[in-house]
Amino acid sequence: QAKRSGRGAVVVYTREMEDAAKRVTHIEQALRRAVAAGDVEPHFQPIVDLETRRTVGFETLARWTDRDLGPVSPGVFIPIAEERGIIGPLSQLVLRKATEAARGWPSNLFLSFNLSPSQLVDHNTGLQILSILERTGFDPRRLEIEITETGLMNDPASAQRIVEDLRRVGIRVSLDDFGTGQSSLGRLREFQFDKLKIDRAFVSSILDDRPSEHIIRAILAMCEGLGMDVVAEGIEAEAQADRLVQFGCGGGQGFLFGRPCDADATLGYLRDSAARPPLRKVVG
Ligand code: C2E
Ligand code: MG
Ligand code: MG
Ligand code: MG
Repeated sequence: QAKRSGRGAVVVYTREMEDAAKRVTHIEQALRRAVAAGDVEPHFQPIVDLETRRTVGFETLARWTDRDLGPVSPGVFIPIAEERGIIGPLSQLVLRKATEAARGWPSNLFLSFNLSPSQLVDHNTGLQILSILERTGFDPRRLEIEITETGLMNDPASAQRIVEDLRRVGIRVSLDDFGTGQSSLGRLREFQFDKLKIDRAFVSSILDDRPSEHIIRAILAMCEGLGMDVVAEGIEAEAQADRLVQFGCGGGQGFLFGRPCDADATLGYLRDSAARPPLRKVVG
């Protein structure tokens, strides 16, 4: 309640904060019910070999549609799940469904899966992943875990142990959204990554800005030296893909090649792409 008009702004701000907090709690409660009911679904976005355009794997992306709220973006519900302690069960649900679906795909295709920062300080994470793979019969050598730099900062020693446990059974580890978070090149010395994913921010400006071009070329040279695979994220235009091939970037992901789709549509996509030869782009 505003006592004097001069303080009105403060009251409004508080009210807004209250509303935001209520909204978060509402989403949290609905999400808890959805996870308990098994109502969060994995969608899959193709990752391609940039030169041949052949699909080499899929990234798992969680999707949730609430009856009242409608579709809620993972950019909204993942941070809430982390903050309110729901990320563990949510993640296990999505990984179980994802590996059940991916089990039926051609065995040369990998599946990648995102881990949240809080999961990298939880020593149960490794065991939980392994027990899901055991139950669904999904070969760990076909699984990739995507983690961000933020996830490595809180407790690097704990993250290191989890990463080592996963790599020991053949799970590959990629560094996601590279170039955005609290980037530290030192991290690349401490941790062994199998793959690096260049953040969409660099890819979207590759054609119209010299710094992005130089940064991408430097990342590619560094990855070659360190023996890491590279995937450029967020490719939306042919010209971006062409440029990345010229620079020697091996992998790509983005709306140009395919949007995230549910398990059924992904099977359809795989049947279609098996039926026609891959498109080979002539470069140079
Ligand atoms: P991410 O792991 O970096 O995933 C890539 C995001 O970029 C996805 O957003 C994808 O839909 C979007 N994307 C892909 N290609 C393009 C493109 O060409 N243009 C544009 N504009 N966007 C593109 P999405 O699905 O909204 O997910 C957002 C973030 O939420 C993910 O970023 C990831 O950090 C997190 N996330 C999603 N699913 C999970 C999950 O199961 N577990 C955890 N821990 N995090 C998840
Ligand atoms: Mg990712
Ligand atoms: Mg990413
Ligand atoms: Mg991202």
